[in-house]
Amino acid sequence: MAKRPRVVIVGAGFGGLEAAKRLAGKPVDVTVIDRRNHHLFQPLLYQVATAALSPADIAAPIRSILAKAPNVRVLLDTATGVIPLANSVRLASGRTLPYDWLILATGARHSYFGRDDWAAHAPGIKSIEDATAMRRSVLIALERAETESDLKRRNALLTFVVIGGGPTGVEMAGAIAELARQSVSRDFRSITPHCSRVILIEAGPRVLPAFPPELSKRACRALEQLGVEVRLGEAVTEVAGHHVRVGGEAILTHTIVWAAGVQASPAAEWLGVRSDRSGRVVVDNDLLVPGYRDIFAIGDTAACVNDRGDMLPGVAPVAKQQGRYVVDRILSRTIAPFRYRDYGNMATIGRRRAVADFGRVRLSGFSAWLIWCVAHVFFLVGFRSRLSVVLHWAWNYFTFARSARLITGPIDNPRANPLAEAA
Ligand SMILES: Cc1cc2nc3c(=O)[nH]c(=O)nc-3n(C[C@H](O)[C@H](O)[C@H](O)COP(=O)(O)OP(=O)(O)OC[C@H]3O[C@@H](n4cnc5c(N)ncnc54)[C@H](O)[C@@H]3O)c2cc1C
Repeated sequence: MAKRPRVVIVGAGFGGLEAAKRLAGKPVDVTVIDRRNHHLFQPLLYQVATAALSPADIAAPIRSILAKAPNVRVLLDTATGVIPLANSVRLASGRTLPYDWLILATGARHSYFGRDDWAAHAPGIKSIEDATAMRRSVLIALERAETESDLKRRNALLTFVVIGGGPTGVEMAGAIAELARQSVSRDFRSITPHCSRVILIEAGPRVLPAFPPELSKRACRALEQLGVEVRLGEAVTEVAGHHVRVGGEAILTHTIVWAAGVQASPAAEWLGVRSDRSGRVVVDNDLLVPGYRDIFAIGDTAACVNDRGDMLPGVAPVAKQQGRYVVDRILSRTIAPFRYRDYGNMATIGRRRAVADFGRVRLSGFSAWLIWCVAHVFFLVGFRSRLSVVLHWAWNYFTFARSARLITGPIDNPRANPLAEAA
């Protein structure tokens, strides 16, 4: 009997999981490796960070998602390299895993544009741990502000700075504004809706640069209506424990969110191949890594252009379509180059507004928000998550309540006095 081809997929994010699901039941033996035991729906991470949803609403165990695929094996391990000459993947556990086909779908992490020292003070949100740490930081700042008698310290505690005006920054700023100014203020005695300051800093001339300018303007207006101060065309020059320096001004704050840049996983380094500025593997139009006939790179870890030569964005639909495409290549169902079908772009601003760009149709406000809700619920993995998210959103919508407002872990904050630090 002929040996079945072995397909190894590194990463069970949007791209890797889509490939694994499509290979289910096919005449191949699949191994999925991920350093986490869960698949994460990153587009809703900001809602965990702002206490609207719980972690389990947006994550599901990879093993259970693929339980019904007998030809797919799941390994909890971290890939640390590829040995192309031996057709194998090196794992942190010390093992090596042989492959006939390799799909690298390891995603991306934050980039601080060479200022890695800022990471400790301005974390981004990429994982469940990041989101729960951010939630904790925001909620502790509010708790401490409630009892702080020094006005400057109190203002610093109630100032939230988001750096980066892309979709994640816009969504985070809107959600923090609603949390701090509307949802929780009624539970506190000394914090009123107008005590809090939420600042969104974007170095470019507009928020949501990937959207048409008219939608950027509408998003900006919606943010301002929520009380967010939007500062455009200003680059951050310093990030420290308790302040951000921008345009010569030191903004005192206890909560800084980084939403300004991404850096691909080290897949290009593993293979010693060409990468773009963000470290993404520059792939051919069939998503194969140049120089290899059996290694694909997909999703956020690959740099791929469309027919017009424009770089494809780092979004979930690109990763999913690429996951499906590489399976079709492996199963010899296609020899055509990869073509991305862009169904549109959406970003939400708070609890009832969004912008949506579907090419000729452009929407903003409540109608766009409804479409955003339906799309996100539809793409969530698992019926339980969908039901839970819908119930939470309905509850939040009608009551303004944030159901996941838990502070876990010790509440001592060893940070220094922000006033002294910025002086
Ligand atoms: C906060 C946030 C909000 C976003 N909002 C949107 C949105 O609204 N719409 C949208 O379309 N996109 C959004 N994105 C982008 C979208 O999530 C990504 O484009 C998408 O996740 C890319 O899929 P991927 O499969 O390439 O990587 P990922 O989904 O990031 O998956 C990578 C997987 O690889 C695993 N992994 C990484 N390295 C290793 C290793 N060495 N060994 C083993 N496993 C490894 C990781 O654990 C992870 O499971 C958002 C991203 C973030 C962070």
